[in-house]
Amino acid sequence: TSFGFKEVREEEKRQLVGNVFSSVASSYDLMNDLMSGGLHRLWKDRLVSMLNPFPGMKHLDVAGGTGDVAFRILETVNSIKRRALQDVLLDELQEETRIYICDINPNMLNVGKERALERGDKSLVWVEGDAEALCFEDRTMDGYTIAFGIRNVTHIEKALAEAYRVLKRGGRFLCLELSHVEIPVFKELYDYYSFSVIPAMGELVAGDRSSYQYLVESIRRFPPQEKFASMIADAGFQKVEYENLVGGVVAIHSGLKI
Ligand code: SAM
Repeated sequence: TSFGFKEVREEEKRQLVGNVFSSVASSYDLMNDLMSGGLHRLWKDRLVSMLNPFPGMKHLDVAGGTGDVAFRILETVNSIKRRALQDVLLDELQEETRIYICDINPNMLNVGKERALERGDKSLVWVEGDAEALCFEDRTMDGYTIAFGIRNVTHIEKALAEAYRVLKRGGRFLCLELSHVEIPVFKELYDYYSFSVIPAMGELVAGDRSSYQYLVESIRRFPPQEKFASMIADAGFQKVEYENLVGGVVAIHSGLKI
């Protein structure tokens, strides 16, 4: 009967929704690798090397998702620690490192938490929260990063104001984001890739064309490099700069709270 059919469909849907966490998580990482040809790993490495992490730092990674950026920061801190231990620079290691990962989506955080458990490091703190209203005190962080996150935030200005608020004086703001390509020919190729290849890939791999269509549209709507830099300066940051990677496919913006 049609009723029976409906029941089956609802059960199917419940299962689907229940599986969303795992399917989103697995296809999320796979899609990142596929769409960027693995380059997102290098971009995140570059972000972390610009941050210059140090043992004892208090750092906030917003829209931290599954912890990709946080794990890299922690690895850098740990390798500095190992070297310092060899040099018996123990003073440097007295203060505990804290890396807070804040994300609005608990499912993304859960994936990261599980990964952290496997690694057994206690320096990571997972916090569910909104970039526009951070649950951290004023002037508590040495660094703030946001990778592929600020584009999704409703009021960018609010997120920037919050970043400024929670940073200590001398603290660094860094934002990695998909940006704008202005190089002729490359721009046309990139447009074709984004508007045709990405949604098709999303459908094929993640079974979700519309989300990936949204992704491409949100990149177009995001302010161009110069405009975004001036928004960061308007939030109070000094020494605002940006670096284009792959001709502006992504850009890393930075600012200092002085
Ligand atoms: N930073 C991770 C990375 O580079 O792999 C994840 C990036 S993912 C494309 C975007 C993340 O932003 C998602 O995990 C989403 O939940 C989070 N997000 C979206 N809006 C947010 C907000 N207002 N506050 C905090 N996180 C947000």
